[in-house]
Amino acid sequence: MIKPIFPGATLGVLGSGQLGRMFAIAARRMGYRVNVLSPVSDTPTGQVADVEIRAAYEDLDAIAHFARGVDVVTFEFENVPSATAETAARHAPVRPAGQVLHTTQNRRREKTWLRDHGIPMTPFEPARSAEELSIAVKRLGTPAVLKTAAFGYDGKGQVVIRKLTEANAAWQALKGQECILEAWVDFEHECSVIAARGLDRRMVFYGPMINTHSNHILDTSVTPGNLSPGIVREAYDIARAVMEGLDVIGVLCVEFFLTHAGELMVNELAPRPHNSGHLTINGHLTCQFEQQVRSVCGLPLGSPALLKPAAAMANLLGDLWKKGEPRWDRLCAIPEAKLHLYGKAEARPGRKMGHINAVANSPEEALRIVTAARAALLA
Ligand code: AMP
Repeated sequence: MIKPIFPGATLGVLGSGQLGRMFAIAARRMGYRVNVLSPVSDTPTGQVADVEIRAAYEDLDAIAHFARGVDVVTFEFENVPSATAETAARHAPVRPAGQVLHTTQNRRREKTWLRDHGIPMTPFEPARSAEELSIAVKRLGTPAVLKTAAFGYDGKGQVVIRKLTEANAAWQALKGQECILEAWVDFEHECSVIAARGLDRRMVFYGPMINTHSNHILDTSVTPGNLSPGIVREAYDIARAVMEGLDVIGVLCVEFFLTHAGELMVNELAPRPHNSGHLTINGHLTCQFEQQVRSVCGLPLGSPALLKPAAAMANLLGDLWKKGEPRWDRLCAIPEAKLHLYGKAEARPGRKMGHINAVANSPEEALRIVTAARAALLA
């Protein structure tokens, strides 16, 4: 049996954004030390870590040195090169394993893996050249959405193709990078399940969270949704199949489209805690970040039980700073609203600066609290 990593040990995180920050907060609350490595300094994670190291992910000497100084390595940024994960794995356990990142950091590999494992997903075709794209558009029909295979997030690297004649311009807009073409899904809801899986192979699930987006960026999440027990079971079964099939030790989010016909389709996987799971910090007995700590340390997972009948989250984007500092006093005047800020100095439009959580007796009430608290910031 692999020995668990006990509090007092040092956990290493690659990537230094808000996901690493909330992981570090959970880890430090449990008595661990946290070292972080990323190419920048004074980061959301670095501000709460014990040690912040600035180095490129491609600097394999720095990665080796970093991994030698920690008891386990995990990620908050899934786009680190494969060589980085392989180098770290020579010196410390890497959880989830580099292979999980390799599969999920490229949309073509991820979707091919899902299709090969019989998991329902949005229909897609590879598009590695303008010619292949035009064949793909003919096969899938329009509208369809062209997405870069790598480094896409929050709708970046995506172009909608409404008719075949737009294919060439879309290919040029994405600068001829490797892409996939996806059929457009006229969904009823977007939802997500967050799963955690320990070294003992036991799993827990959160959600489904019902997610709304604005300009392709997550706006609000709420759980539970008004979904039938059959859909919830199916969403968990899919998440379980993904966790087992990829042999994930850690946390992973499955994002779904739910069609008007009540059909679930996987949109994408994220092999780490996810924005839609931020509501677990105040909504659940054990949050997604504590589960990440427990799973990568080989400890049993905590209870994912909801503390109240419903929990919700509203994101705070940089746009809220347009007219100066938001009115934090007005938000705090709503006693049920819980404020989380990520310590980012510069508020750019679309940049995730923080979020608001609330729990309540119904999903509608929880959503009402977080959106009213957000509106109060500008009142
Ligand atoms: P993604 O980065 O792939 O999660 O895409 C960001 C957002 O764009 C999604 O959350 C959806 O709101 C929208 N979107 C992406 N792909 C599709 C699709 N095939 N059909 C409909 N909406 C989509």
